[in-house]
Amino acid sequence: AAAEIGVIGLGVMGANLALNIADNGYHVAVYNRTSARTAEFAANAGALADRVTACATLEEFVSAIRPPRPVIIMVKAGEPVDQQIEALKPLLQDRDIIIDAGNANFRDTMRRFTALEGTGLTFIGMGVSGGEEGARHGPSIMVGGAEAAWKRVEPVLTAISAKYEGEACAAWLGENGAGHFVKTIHNGIEYADMQMIAEVYGVMRDHLGMDAPTIAAVFSAWSTGPLDSYLIDITAEVLKVHDAATGKAIVDVIVDAAGQKGTGRWSAIESQMMGVPATAIEAAVAARSLSAMRAERARAESLLGLPARQDRRNSQEVIDDLEKALLAGKIAAYAQGFAVMAAASREFGWNLPMPTIARIWRAGCIIRSRFLGEIATAFGADPDVSNLALTPAFSAMIKDTDASLRRIVAEAALNGLPVPALSSALGYFDTYRRARGTANLIQAQRDFFGAHGFERFDAEGEQHGPWGGTS
Ligand code: NDP
Repeated sequence: AAAEIGVIGLGVMGANLALNIADNGYHVAVYNRTSARTAEFAANAGALADRVTACATLEEFVSAIRPPRPVIIMVKAGEPVDQQIEALKPLLQDRDIIIDAGNANFRDTMRRFTALEGTGLTFIGMGVSGGEEGARHGPSIMVGGAEAAWKRVEPVLTAISAKYEGEACAAWLGENGAGHFVKTIHNGIEYADMQMIAEVYGVMRDHLGMDAPTIAAVFSAWSTGPLDSYLIDITAEVLKVHDAATGKAIVDVIVDAAGQKGTGRWSAIESQMMGVPATAIEAAVAARSLSAMRAERARAESLLGLPARQDRRNSQEVIDDLEKALLAGKIAAYAQGFAVMAAASREFGWNLPMPTIARIWRAGCIIRSRFLGEIATAFGADPDVSNLALTPAFSAMIKDTDASLRRIVAEAALNGLPVPALSSALGYFDTYRRARGTANLIQAQRDFFGAHGFERFDAEGEQHGPWGGTS
């Protein structure tokens, strides 16, 4: 057996990951359910062909890898992963490692991890981000499983990962589901980032009346400032592209209904389960769902109409505010995402290393940005801080962007422009930083209808109100 590692699944991600592995000097065995795809992969391996063993059957695949075997499964998430594990199990031996690199729900990863305990086989749940290009030339890799198993695959995984100033964007983050949980929150934050960019685009398009190439220039200019990131770069890029058939900007012929595969929703669900607010992620998930209800939105617009336009400020003033509002929104989304990870770390006993997570997101992944470097520095100085907003660097950024976020949310509200994620960020900050809230009234209501009790400022222990009495 010549191969040092195997890859099952030669779709977009698996094929590119396999080429990346071969490119880094490793011999890789590959297998795909539909063997035509395997043959096509082998035919297109080019200069890397001598480091690839393409296998038509799973038996052939397993015997092509030198034991103890690391086997990466990169197929459609869910049931297909269980099917692959079941098919592999009888063919593998003690000390072989099964690595699920798809976008698994971390609860499935925990189940699979437990199911393989005691079999001699080891399971790793590995989150991979970076899309097609990342998989081919260096993704960000988030690993969960036994640390000893990670040690065995660390050389190949660090070799194929993205590098940030020479530092590998691959790390072991904790036991069992830790890697897939972190990947899920990465995607939740990605949803929020993308939604807030789309909201800002909407203000420029529908409020300032700017066309796509003009908006592209604004995003290009922002990409040299604090918003510098992959998502801002590709936004500028896609806004510049024209459709050959119509001569219009391509974004103007794309239907305004977004797809989703689940990771954003799982982020929102898990944060709710732990009682940690992730309002920017929730707003982004809800916005995608609302976007998909196109026909219903059209009916609502004809029935309810749009609010009358208000006077608007000078475009440049609005654009300057949009840049800062986007930064403020980003701070809320990341503060929330990291707080959710901290809660999960406590709940599942993972001991997630926050500075490491921020560091391995600085390159390779979809949310890579200058901003993540600042998060890495902030968590590096204070790894246990309960919220990013409480660090000196980020509290200063919040103060600096606060007025802009307020003006944008207010102007959007007056003009009926939807900015649900940005306004959720504002609502979050305003609630989070107010020492005296309004839940005293909620406690009174709860005690009134359900005798749930409340605490008093001036007395110890649970109290009840004089409801229904004569007082
Ligand atoms: P593709 O749709 O390109 O490929 C899907 C792969 O899964 C094919 O190899 C397919 O085999 C295989 N497959 C599907 N069902 C089964 C089954 N029942 N049994 C065996 N194999 C099966 O998917 P991607 O490469 O995009 O995604 C793979 C995983 O990576 C997913 O979990 C995805 O969420 C995740 N991911 C994707 C990213 C992306 O940007 N695309 C980024 C990060 C993670 P066949 O050829 O026989 O149909």
